[in-house]
Amino acid sequence: MINVTKTFLPPIEEYNAYLRKLWESGWITNQGKMVQELEVRMKERLEVEYLQFVSNGTIAIQLAIKALELKGEVITTPFSYVATTTSLIWEHCTPVFTDIEDKTFCLDPAKIEAAITNKTSAILATHVYGYPCDVDKIAAIAKKYKLKVIYDGAHAFGVRKGGRSLMSFGDITTLSLHATKLFHTVEGGAVICNDSEIDKKVCLYRSFGHVGDDYFTMGINGKNSEFHAAMGLCNLPYVDAIITRRRELSEYYDKKLSALGLQFPVKSPDLHYNYAYYPVIFSSEAAMLASRKVLLENNISTRRYFYPSLNTLPYLKADKCEVSEDIARRVLCLPLYPQLTFQEADQVISHITNK
Ligand SMILES: *Cc1c(COP(=O)(O)O)cnc(C)c1O
Repeated sequence: MINVTKTFLPPIEEYNAYLRKLWESGWITNQGKMVQELEVRMKERLEVEYLQFVSNGTIAIQLAIKALELKGEVITTPFSYVATTTSLIWEHCTPVFTDIEDKTFCLDPAKIEAAITNKTSAILATHVYGYPCDVDKIAAIAKKYKLKVIYDGAHAFGVRKGGRSLMSFGDITTLSLHATKLFHTVEGGAVICNDSEIDKKVCLYRSFGHVGDDYFTMGINGKNSEFHAAMGLCNLPYVDAIITRRRELSEYYDKKLSALGLQFPVKSPDLHYNYAYYPVIFSSEAAMLASRKVLLENNISTRRYFYPSLNTLPYLKADKCEVSEDIARRVLCLPLYPQLTFQEADQVISHITNK
């Protein structure tokens, strides 16, 4: 079986060394040494000022919404994982979907202004597959209308744009460090910002809103444990090698699939990409489903990611987003993970047609 993804696990002795330290100290959660060290190391790796390690990427978005005090309407992308949208609804905001660009599949800045009303408080956009949103245009719109900006950076670990860390744009960027993501801590997430006041709020909200006997605000339990931090500390030194291997495999796919007339996200020249996914857009939904079926018959799993377009979720009422709905119907993510061999990639390639 070739799966669409396979979690990277470090050599077990390396994780065991951390476990031994935990058994010695007996301190396994509540901002222990490993969580603190992971936060420092991630800040260095991502070149960002403030970062809080949290329990998952969904709670990271919810903490971001709370810390920026968003209310009313939030303009957001229909082409993302469902958690981007449901976090807004969970925090009593109304998602207003505007359509995506057909090159990066990120929120189209040209469509945002028309959707702004006097109830709009923010823009929540996703760096889809790790491809950057048009952060400059979004910043200009946010400034003009005094809106907050959150980037769901769940796919964008380590991405740089114009020499700058993509995680440093917007008011807050959130990460997911789930086992299926490029860099993972089994379960986990992070809230990144460059404002100490916002960071302080996130820190309080993450641990029930109190420090010792001083109760400052309402909060929630968004903490993560030493076991999860230990996995992150083990995995972090391997990230560059993981990205390199993913790039080799992606370029191999690029070369071998180039004659089929498939569509791919467009990389801008100033992008330092992380090869988090390998999405392919077929000429039609029927062509995608036909290849997917043959792949599955040959024990190769793929993922319709993202499908459906979030504006069509059965429990929502939202306007049409033609580009997003069209891409969501035709896109398929192919197997991509560092342990994948070129022979396995050849098997995948041999079953793909675009008719
Ligand atoms: C994975 C993912 C999330 C959710 O992260 P979890 O850690 O699974 O809660 C949110 N947004 C996007 C775009 C994702 O891919």
